[in-house]
Amino acid sequence: MSNIDLVVKGGKIATSHGIIEGNLYVSSGRVVAIGRLDVPAAEVVDADGLFVLPGFIDSHVHFMDPGDLSREDFPTGSAAAAAAGVTTVIEHSHVYQIHTAEQLVEKAEYLANRSVVDFGLAAHFSPHSVDDVVNVWAAGATFIKVFTCTTHGVQAVETARLAEAMKRLAGRDAVYLVHGEDESLTEHAERVLKARSQADGGVIPQWRSLLAEQVAVASVGMVSRALGGRVVFAHCSHPSVVEIISTLRNWGAKVWAETCPQYLYLFEDEVRQFGAFRKFTPPARAQSEADLGAMWQLLRDGQIAYVASDHAPSTREQKESASIWEAPFGLPGIDTTSALLLDAALTGRISILRFVELYSREPARIYGLYPRKGALLPGSDADFVLVDPSARRVIRDETILSKAKWSPFSGKEVQGAVVATYLRGKKVAENREVLAPPGSGRFLPGPGARGG
Ligand SMILES: [Zn+2]
Repeated sequence: MSNIDLVVKGGKIATSHGIIEGNLYVSSGRVVAIGRLDVPAAEVVDADGLFVLPGFIDSHVHFMDPGDLSREDFPTGSAAAAAAGVTTVIEHSHVYQIHTAEQLVEKAEYLANRSVVDFGLAAHFSPHSVDDVVNVWAAGATFIKVFTCTTHGVQAVETARLAEAMKRLAGRDAVYLVHGEDESLTEHAERVLKARSQADGGVIPQWRSLLAEQVAVASVGMVSRALGGRVVFAHCSHPSVVEIISTLRNWGAKVWAETCPQYLYLFEDEVRQFGAFRKFTPPARAQSEADLGAMWQLLRDGQIAYVASDHAPSTREQKESASIWEAPFGLPGIDTTSALLLDAALTGRISILRFVELYSREPARIYGLYPRKGALLPGSDADFVLVDPSARRVIRDETILSKAKWSPFSGKEVQGAVVATYLRGKKVAENREVLAPPGSGRFLPGPGARGG
């Protein structure tokens, strides 16, 4: 066996065979073995009483860099990620969209010294040409973002153009992340609400209705079924949307459901009280604890494939500076997603292994990073997180590292804490303090650039 640089001793290690108590051996930034071997190591980390989990993967974040650095940037967002145990992010920003292969390469180069954690980059479906979509996939975009309705200044993609891209990229395993809301339903609702001069938080759930989400998801799902394109439906807000996706999958479509903490914890009513601080779309739809419970059940039974933060921060001032119609959409989430899900895992809502699937293994599999990422197997990158299951902490605005400096989850007490985060065998954060500089993270080209 090669020289061991690091051994993590005596932790509860999450593996695909379950939780194993033992040691994790690291050499040259990779996992080389799990077990109890009698080999010398340059560095020993005591993980007694701690979980050793694969580094978390947040596949849906917006760091606005380049784009709008007043809202977030890569050094800040990726530092917040590292503190939260996230060792890989997949990023795209609507304020600076990537449509072409050249733009993707340029953005990856620009970010070479700006990320604390490893990162993939997604592209937006080009409004100019399907050739761009084919080329940007081949250049290494992790997924192609598709909007079915014009939102955040991103143009809606017509069904025929999406179908064309799926035909052109058939057999290349391209993945589309679809923001599903029906254009004509949201547009009509907006016109009616504005004609009535409605401008309270209550406009959001009427404007961005459940029906609009259901119609768009069903429609894109049928296209995927016919043409074989792999589609992830972003931020599923309601059990019925997940059930539509499950039905489409049973009919042979290659489709998955993503959800986010806001659909597992927040209630529809909150937007009336908090206005823009609960403005995101699709909006929260839960009316009761039972509604939230139905989402958790879908998480447990695998109908929801994974969780991402959809980190789309704005500062308090930015949220407060405009009407409910004009205020930016989105919530900060990179700081809090792992804390909320770990709390769920340590208080019995989901298992620890299900947590690992939801926030590490499944996004790694779907986006072509597995088993380099999303697992602690011999040969995997030594990205891992030490979690103290007995710690308790309260999420507070002061603990948010993102430029947002606030959280819809502030005040919530959570079980468990990320004690340390390791990226390719190097400690990048400890007790929420970030130790590694921007530039520690590497760009991870998507599967299209590796011949996929
Ligand atoms: Zn998003």
